[in-house]
Amino acid sequence: MDYSGFTTRVLHTRYLKNDPYGSLHMPVYDTVAFEFDLAEDMELTFQGKKPDHVYSRISNPTVENFENIIRVVTDALTVTALSSGMAAISTLFLTLLEAGDNIITSKHLFGNTYSLFETTLKPFGLQTRYTDLTDPGMVAKQIDDKTRAIFLETITNPQLEVADIKALADIAKNKGIPLIVDTTITPPYLFNSKKHGVNIEVISSTKYISGGATTIGGLIIDNGTFDWSRSGKFVSEATKYGPFALSVKLKREVSRNLGACLSPHNAYLQTLGLETLPLRVDKSCRNAFAIAGHLEEMSQVKSVNYPGLKSSKFHDVARKQFGDKPGAILTFDLDSKERCFSFMNNLNIIRRATNLNDNKTLILHPASTIFCEYDADTKKQMGVRETMIRLAVGIEDVKDLITDINEAMKKTYN
Ligand SMILES: *Cc1c(COP(=O)(O)O)cnc(C)c1O
Repeated sequence: MDYSGFTTRVLHTRYLKNDPYGSLHMPVYDTVAFEFDLAEDMELTFQGKKPDHVYSRISNPTVENFENIIRVVTDALTVTALSSGMAAISTLFLTLLEAGDNIITSKHLFGNTYSLFETTLKPFGLQTRYTDLTDPGMVAKQIDDKTRAIFLETITNPQLEVADIKALADIAKNKGIPLIVDTTITPPYLFNSKKHGVNIEVISSTKYISGGATTIGGLIIDNGTFDWSRSGKFVSEATKYGPFALSVKLKREVSRNLGACLSPHNAYLQTLGLETLPLRVDKSCRNAFAIAGHLEEMSQVKSVNYPGLKSSKFHDVARKQFGDKPGAILTFDLDSKERCFSFMNNLNIIRRATNLNDNKTLILHPASTIFCEYDADTKKQMGVRETMIRLAVGIEDVKDLITDINEAMKKTYN
């Protein structure tokens, strides 16, 4: 049967091998090694001629089942699950790049991703060119024959900036380089990367996919739409493996060598999370809309930033790309840092914590926490104000969240 609905496909994608006990949930194969009946089979498997599991750093049935469900729902060519979002991003770029290469991106990046490019990869001769990705003309100008990718986040955090992905995909295609997108905040179901011309998607499955904020994990999703035959390091791979060129290098070499494998237990929990992803995305985005609208009406609030609001300059492009679900993260400003702290401390339901897309609504003050290492100038460049609060909206009953906000605001401005 050919299923079309996201949730139906998540729930009913069959295991790659029948479970001997007919288990309705993929069991957790907590094992390191797998045995063979015959030495001949072992030889064939080690030679890559027979697809069996050997050792769980390389592959594992529970992890493979999670990857396969993601592959089916995204219509991707291959999926690689790793131990964290950062493992996915670092493993991908180490697979893709060699000394002397550069990538084009924006300074509005997840903090560790920025640090990966700027601090960790730079000494290996990898150059990062920062530009304004919401200005496609600027992007095209930065590309030269050593550029190996355009990389962006679908909604930047905490600026909540939305680039036109179709425009960037056209530039990337024209220049013969892949478009790589971090879709953590707008995961599959909410955003279909393949349809928008994205070649490779990376996700921190720690966030929306794990759902209950139970486990750390990451995904590399290769849509299989990039032609590697003219791409530096991959020319010979492309002759042998065609669209699988990157995936082969990633799966057979780099991810094994770096060893950041996802644990079977975490793959199991994230597969469970995936089953309710659409329900949670729908509810948290609805809640975010309601709260953003409510904050806009509050006299104490100086400004509200949410791509779903008409007042956001990214409203139209967000609508085009994400429909009525432009994520569940918003920011707003009070009149001082002290007021922000006081407001946060007066909350009873909303928790002070740093995750995103948890089931629980979480709040933080970006300038004093995730951006605390940056100097005032850099913070300004990154659009991080001392008066700004970030709210990552969860799936609670929205009236309780609004009551919590109202009461905390009243106490703060009393
Ligand atoms: C959290 C996050 C990451 C890193 O993911 P981890 O699972 O924490 O390693 C990368 N990109 C974005 C956009 C994130 O929000």
